[in-house]
Amino acid sequence: MAHLIERVEVIPIRAPRKEPVRSGSNAGDPVHASEFGIVRILTQDGLEGLGEISITFPRVGHSLCHAARWLIAPALVGLEALERPKILAEIDRLLAAELSAPYIRAAFEMALLDLAGKCYGVPAYQLLGGKMRDRIPLAWGIYQKSPEEMAADAIAACEQGYHAIKLKVGRRLCDDLAAVRAVSEAVGGDMPLRLDANGAWKSVAEAAHAMRALAAVASIAWVEQPLPRSNLDGLRMLRQMTALPVMADESCQTLRDAYDLARAEAADLFNVYVVEAGGVMAAAQIFAFAAEVNLSCIIGSQAEMGIGTAACAHLGVSTPNLPYACECFGPLRYLRDIVQHPIPIARGCLTPPEGPGLGVQLNQDAVRELACES
Ligand SMILES: [Mg+2]
Repeated sequence: MAHLIERVEVIPIRAPRKEPVRSGSNAGDPVHASEFGIVRILTQDGLEGLGEISITFPRVGHSLCHAARWLIAPALVGLEALERPKILAEIDRLLAAELSAPYIRAAFEMALLDLAGKCYGVPAYQLLGGKMRDRIPLAWGIYQKSPEEMAADAIAACEQGYHAIKLKVGRRLCDDLAAVRAVSEAVGGDMPLRLDANGAWKSVAEAAHAMRALAAVASIAWVEQPLPRSNLDGLRMLRQMTALPVMADESCQTLRDAYDLARAEAADLFNVYVVEAGGVMAAAQIFAFAAEVNLSCIIGSQAEMGIGTAACAHLGVSTPNLPYACECFGPLRYLRDIVQHPIPIARGCLTPPEGPGLGVQLNQDAVRELACES
C-alpha cells in the first residue's frame, strides 16, 4: 500500500526559556526564547510524522522555517513517505549544500522516521538497528552566571543524579576561574568538569593560557571548542600543548567535518547533534566513523524540545559506542514543551518515549500558544 505525502505543515514557534542563555562571548546578548519550528508530514492514508527545526545560534530558526515551508514542503507532496533516501536526496538537491541545510534536513528526516515507525508499529530505535541500552546517562549544562549561582546549580544537578557537569566558559579569564573554582569546590574532585568555550578564545596562545589556568583550579574532563570552528590547526596545537582532551562541537557538524577533524588530528572527542548532522541517520554515521578512527562521541543539544530530544533518545539507545554522558536535556530548558507527555528524563537519564515512531504527540494547546508567523 502506498503512503503518499498529502500535506506538509511547518509551524514556527517561539518557546520561552526558563533562564537566559549566556555562553561563549555572548553574555551581553543572551537568548531568552528559542525560535524553532515544527514540521508535520501527513500522508493520504492518515499517517503523521513529526520533526523539529532547532537552532539556537545563530538565530535563524524562523528563516529556516520559511525555507522549509516554501521550498521543501511543496516538493514532497505526492512522494512515497517510506522512501526516505529518495525524499532526502530531493531535499539535498533543493538545499544545494547551503550551510544551514542540515538543520532543515534533520527536521524532515526525523519526521519521516517517526512516520515510518508508526506505519510499521515499531519505535524509531528499531529502525536504527535495535537497542544497545535502555537509557542514556546525561550531563547537566550550566550557563555563565555568578560563581555562587553556578555552584548552586551544580550541587542541584548532582543531587538529581546527573552524571557530569558542563560549564560555559569564555568570559574574562578571572570570571571563568572564579566560576570553575567555585563549582569544583562545590561538587568535589570526583566529578571532572566539562568546559565549553563555544569558540570564544581567539588565538592558540590565549586558549592555551586559559586552559592551563583552568586546569590548575579544577579537574577537567575536556575542553570543548576552545577556538573558532575553522581553526583545526589551532585545535591540534592545543591538544599537543596542554595535554587536555579537546572536544569539537561547532567544528563537527557533518560527517565531512568529522573526517576533516580526524585527518587534522584536531580533536579527542566529537559533540554530535542530530539537528546539525542532518538527521538521526546522519548522526549515526558520524558515530560509526568516529569508532573506526578511535574517537568518542557524545550526543549534544541545541536545547531541542520534545520532538528533537525524542530523536536524540532513539539514536542514543541504539548507537553501539556511547562511553560518556550526553547532553540532550533540552526540554528541561523550557517553561512549556510542544509534546503531550514530558520527555522521560529522570535520575540523570533520558529514556525514549514509549510508542511507535518517535513516541511523541503534539500538545495542540502548547503549539497554539507558542506558534508565531515567520
Ligand atoms: Mg558546545
